[in-house]
Amino acid sequence: MSLNLVQAWQSARKRLEAAGLQGPVIDARLLVEAAADATRADIVTDPHRPLTSEQEAKLNDYLSRREHREPVSHILGRKGFWKIMLNVTPDVLTPRPDTETVVEWVLRDFPEHAPWSVLDLGVGSGAILLSILAERPAAKGLGVDVSEEALAVARDNAAHLGLAGRMALLRGDWTEGLADANFDLVVSNPPYIASDVIETLEPEVRDHEPRIALEGGPDGLTHYRHLAPEILRVLKPGGRFAVEIGYDQKEAVEALFRKAGAVDVQTLRDLGDRDRVVAGAKNPLETLSRLAS
Ligand code: GLN
Repeated sequence: MSLNLVQAWQSARKRLEAAGLQGPVIDARLLVEAAADATRADIVTDPHRPLTSEQEAKLNDYLSRREHREPVSHILGRKGFWKIMLNVTPDVLTPRPDTETVVEWVLRDFPEHAPWSVLDLGVGSGAILLSILAERPAAKGLGVDVSEEALAVARDNAAHLGLAGRMALLRGDWTEGLADANFDLVVSNPPYIASDVIETLEPEVRDHEPRIALEGGPDGLTHYRHLAPEILRVLKPGGRFAVEIGYDQKEAVEALFRKAGAVDVQTLRDLGDRDRVVAGAKNPLETLSRLAS
């Protein structure tokens, strides 16, 4: 007996629920849509469409992978972020809604039609940088990553979004080799999870996501210690930055940026009302004070 779309959704949900997974309704819908080659609207407007036996087999395979805690983003090879769809592989951090806080802040303050420049440190899939470039047609971006595999994913995403012409990619260790005072904006979602916390994470993250994109050293702050002065170095005077942080890292990361000379340092909260992004600026008078000293 073949299942129709709505029956497939219901039975997928029950299976994921029985496996004790969080968010079984949405996961079930996404997996049914992909397996049955259906859109979200099809499930509502054409609920009785039967699945072919190949589609049912595919759905079974997806569900058993999900039961083994493989993330939906890896099963489907993609994930929506802000207003774009991104290809995702196990070589990049799966884009998370928390990170949209960075994009929202940038879009509030950076003009639509001016030709400013943005640097994304640890660009990964390109989620932050490509979301910004998609909304700011005169902006140009550079994405840096230490992982060649991650850069390949970002390159692919830039191409299918039609943004490759405004985005350059560079393999490198953070800001190494970049000139001083070159960018109007620097964004980053660096690895910030303390090493001994990694083992306590959900299996989807702990066993499937790249550790290099998660682990921030003994206290989680190793990369901010390096990045704070370096971000201030590569920003133009008056340029701004926004970096994602762990929910309990506000005080420490704000202090690191203030110590590096940043002004207007503040922390933004995510949709779950947790501290999520430290933002600030490079003193616009920096060049003048340097000339005077
Ligand atoms: N927010 C991610 C998580 O909790 C971590 C991202 C990061 O380290 N930059 O899984």
